Amino acid sequence: MDRDHILLTPGPLTTTLRTKLAMLRDWGSWDADFNAVTARVRASLLKIIHAESSHVVVPLQGSGTFSVEAAVATVVPRDGHVLVLDNGAYCKRAAKLTSMMGRKCTVLAFDDAEQVSPPALAAKLKEDTSITHVLMIHCETGAGVLNPLPLVAEVCASHGKGLIVDAMSSFGALPIDARETRFDALIAASGKCLEGVPGMGFVFLRKAILDKCAGQSQSLAMDLHDQYVYMEKTGQWRFTPPTHVVVALAEAIAQFEAEGGQPARLARYTDNYRTLIDGMGRLGFMPFLDPAVQAPIIVTFHAPGDPRYEFKAFYAAAKAHGFILYPGKLTQVETFRVGCIGAIGRNEMEQAVHAVELALQDLGIESGTPHI
Ligand SMILES: *Cc1c(COP(=O)(O)O)cnc(C)c1O
Repeated sequence: MDRDHILLTPGPLTTTLRTKLAMLRDWGSWDADFNAVTARVRASLLKIIHAESSHVVVPLQGSGTFSVEAAVATVVPRDGHVLVLDNGAYCKRAAKLTSMMGRKCTVLAFDDAEQVSPPALAAKLKEDTSITHVLMIHCETGAGVLNPLPLVAEVCASHGKGLIVDAMSSFGALPIDARETRFDALIAASGKCLEGVPGMGFVFLRKAILDKCAGQSQSLAMDLHDQYVYMEKTGQWRFTPPTHVVVALAEAIAQFEAEGGQPARLARYTDNYRTLIDGMGRLGFMPFLDPAVQAPIIVTFHAPGDPRYEFKAFYAAAKAHGFILYPGKLTQVETFRVGCIGAIGRNEMEQAVHAVELALQDLGIESGTPHI
């Protein structure tokens, strides 16, 4: 089939033709034209979460995880102590990289199907006063849970603790307001809800903590303070920028703004989510999460109970019908995931449900009803 598959994954995701076309030019990394694009992207990013007066934003080469690692190394002193609120796979990854950066790390565990609990956080901070920072994931892309960012931020602020937020899969779609929600660092990336292509992350750093960040990173390439200082001085990135990714992101942000910004993006993704849930429900599929904690970003479904079901074959059949699904990330139950994000709307979600129906038929499976 000489057409791109539609990606129902949490990044990379389906982008518009306009965003792809923006990558058909070469840019000099020292050139004033490219520096202007970088400056424009940074200014737009600050506006999205109303952080112009409280934060700076520092872009970094690499996938989203590079920026999470860089944020921890830049923001947390080497003798700091990070508490990770863990309700899924991306939390576990954040805890692992925190330890690997040499920072003391404690994990507060929650169920994969539940939100992290602000009262449990408050109790933990009271019990262990050596904790200096809290790290949370806004939308836990593992199962798809939306965590209560404003409430967690309130607990951190009232206990005088720093907060680091991985908002990778929520930024641009779910509301975040830096004027009301206090955080030291918040991380997202080009290839998620802004619908750019993957290749760079960006970290919002609270201005009040910037000076203290100097020299804290043990990595040269991942030092966000150094990247910030150099960028302010020269307008340039330290080290080779992902030029095509940056111009594609600028083009994606222009479309984001024209669509109506974050509220419009949330409305489209919510419509995608409802279309998906309704259609899959008609095929017998059951979502893993309670709708009360589900973000309209990615949905985890229970695998069909039919013994003929096997993820690889199901994936291949859906792919043959034009759609790329995503494996589950839960260890206890057999699941798969379907993303609601990207440059797609109701038509594509209806077609996706139809592709799943055809995939079931191909495998001789009568319904998506799970075995639980
Ligand atoms: C996508 C994502 C990341 C980054 O993953 P990469 O594969 O490094 O891009 C981190 N955290 C969350 C919650 C994500 O959804």
